[in-house]
Amino acid sequence: MTQNHYQVIVIGGGVSGAALYYELGRYTDIKKIALLEKYGSLATLNSSGSANSQTMHCGDIETNYTLEKAQSVTRTAKMVEKYCLQHGYENTIMFSHQKMAIGVGFEEVRFIRKRFKEFHPLYPYLELYEKDTIAEIEPRLIYDAHGKERPEPIVAMGAQGQWTTVNFKALSESFIDNTLKIEDKITDIFFHSEVKYIQKLGSMFHLETVQGHHFTADFVVVNAGAHSLYLAHQMGYGLDYATLPVAGSFYVSTKKILNGKVYMVQNPKLPFAALHGDPDILLNGYTRFGPTALVLPKLERFKSGTYADFFKTLRFDWHIVKIFYDLLKDSDIRNYIIRNFLFELPYVRKKLFLQDARKIVPSLQEADIKYAKGFGGIRPQVLDKKNERLMLGEASINTEEGIIFNMTPSPGATSCLGNALRDVEYISDYLGVTFDAAAFRRELTDDKE
Ligand SMILES: Cc1cc2nc3c(=O)[nH]c(=O)nc-3n(C[C@H](O)[C@H](O)[C@H](O)COP(=O)(O)OP(=O)(O)OC[C@H]3O[C@@H](n4cnc5c(N)ncnc54)[C@H](O)[C@@H]3O)c2cc1C
Repeated sequence: MTQNHYQVIVIGGGVSGAALYYELGRYTDIKKIALLEKYGSLATLNSSGSANSQTMHCGDIETNYTLEKAQSVTRTAKMVEKYCLQHGYENTIMFSHQKMAIGVGFEEVRFIRKRFKEFHPLYPYLELYEKDTIAEIEPRLIYDAHGKERPEPIVAMGAQGQWTTVNFKALSESFIDNTLKIEDKITDIFFHSEVKYIQKLGSMFHLETVQGHHFTADFVVVNAGAHSLYLAHQMGYGLDYATLPVAGSFYVSTKKILNGKVYMVQNPKLPFAALHGDPDILLNGYTRFGPTALVLPKLERFKSGTYADFFKTLRFDWHIVKIFYDLLKDSDIRNYIIRNFLFELPYVRKKLFLQDARKIVPSLQEADIKYAKGFGGIRPQVLDKKNERLMLGEASINTEEGIIFNMTPSPGATSCLGNALRDVEYISDYLGVTFDAAAFRRELTDDKE
């Protein structure tokens, strides 16, 4: 075996790759693990604090989740919370803010009241807030600068004192730091290591980087964000899938506007599309409104290139045409796409965005917000060509041949430890190594022994 041989190689140093690296180090008896990252530091793309909304999505105020989906995300969100508590990361990596989902107008008010009844048993800490309570918690939702009350009916379901907010870049760094501290194991990190080629020869994977380095591994997990499918296609996997890169941008307030997280009722056809307001932990708690959604023909935001990678991963054909045709013939989706395109155009974008954001803060003025330059990321939404549909949520291709490819749009950062658990269990079985499930349960879940 060469020195560059590892039992497991993880490709990608975002929060997904870092979480997997941590679980492999802490909970298995695998002795040699490596992580290969394209750039010079961890989490510079979607997992960076400025790319995402920093929200720990646990399903209580995400109105697009079914009860079943909420049950599963609350379990994975809990893992992040327990990890942070275990290591004492309160108020450094994980923060607490009030959070609420508001219903505005009769129809949405009815919706929130019904949902509260259904979800309260799963989240006993949730409360139903009437207008006067909302005014106490988030006055800007109800009153304008002159004390005038908003006219529409409004109700909210929400909570206080929960852990709601995470700096996912700092979380990624902590996963790596804590893994590197583990003794009796070789845990290597290689920065500036962009994997360009993976090949399976016999039972072993051979990896080559753009920088000309070679590695081998018994098992490979590709957590390369929007590039996961790109690498899968190169190996002939996942050819029925394509990536639709949906960029999300933000507007940031010029003063503190909200005390916590305020979400709106989501359109089930467009999950995570409704704007929300969040206190930005990197900007003194100033409110970040967004994200918007715009299809961009590139796989990485704010980095040069990756246009060709987009077209290679799209593999344009009639199935793609059909998916777009179906999306565009729905007037809700069509209007949403056009509006979000306009949100990116200088001069008009602020005025238009303001109209939408005023559903949260009715008195919001142009001077209160500015386009957050350099903020935002890309959600690698997956297109399922076989079934000619846009997949909503995460996708994982387990080839069952020793390599897994993960695509993680929102809320992939929250589910990083849960997704890693799924892969660690599989890898342990595949390689015949031990996974300490009891330690995992004890440390990262509320499950009884
Ligand atoms: C606007 C927006 C808002 C969001 N808000 C939230 C939120 O509030 N809460 C939440 O839970 N989730 C949110 N998400 C989703 C979340 O940010 C992502 O799911 C998560 O960051 C994905 O992490 P990742 O590690 O899989 O991918 P990434 O963070 O994209 O990391 C992929 C890594 O792989 C590396 N890489 C790529 N190609 C190669 C290669 N060939 N060789 C080596 N390395 C490679 C990259 O450099 C990068 O470091 C949001 C996303 C967006 C875009």
